[in-house]
Amino acid sequence: MRPGLGRSAPVRRYAARETKPGPEVDARDHARDAVRGFLHPVGTCAIGTVVDAECRVIGVEGLRVADGSVMPTIPRVNTNLSTAAIAERVSAVIRADR
Ligand SMILES: Cc1cc2nc3c(=O)[nH]c(=O)nc-3n(C[C@H](O)[C@H](O)[C@H](O)COP(=O)(O)OP(=O)(O)OC[C@H]3O[C@@H](n4cnc5c(N)ncnc54)[C@H](O)[C@@H]3O)c2cc1C
Repeated sequence: MRPGLGRSAPVRRYAARETKPGPEVDARDHARDAVRGFLHPVGTCAIGTVVDAECRVIGVEGLRVADGSVMPTIPRVNTNLSTAAIAERVSAVIRADR
């Protein structure tokens, strides 16, 4: 059995004691058991391909998309606030157009 993560040299000086996974559990086994995916899907209507810079659907009159799907790349932050920012921006653009 390998030493727990908390007792490994790089972490030891920061951690008084390891609570999880604990010294009796192999760190690699813990990582394999605990790893999971997390859903933050974006980009299915990406700016530059499906919509233009103001989120108008290219080739369709009077239709905009304002949600996570317009993000052209996966952001480095969680997507909820970024989605809200997109919605705020698109609503401002629409108001300005009137
Ligand atoms: C489990 C989980 C945890 C998450 N945790 C976080 C987090 O902690 N922090 C964070 O920043 N982000 C988090 N996210 C991501 C965040 O929730 C999404 O990025 C965000 O909600 C995307 O907003 P959206 O408007 O693009 O899509 P959605 O919020 O999915 O909105 C789409 C809406 O369209 C409706 N809809 C779908 N099809 C139709 C249809 N045919 N007709 C009418 N309505 C329809 C749906 O009912 C839904 O209300 C999490 C996502 C998941 C799944």
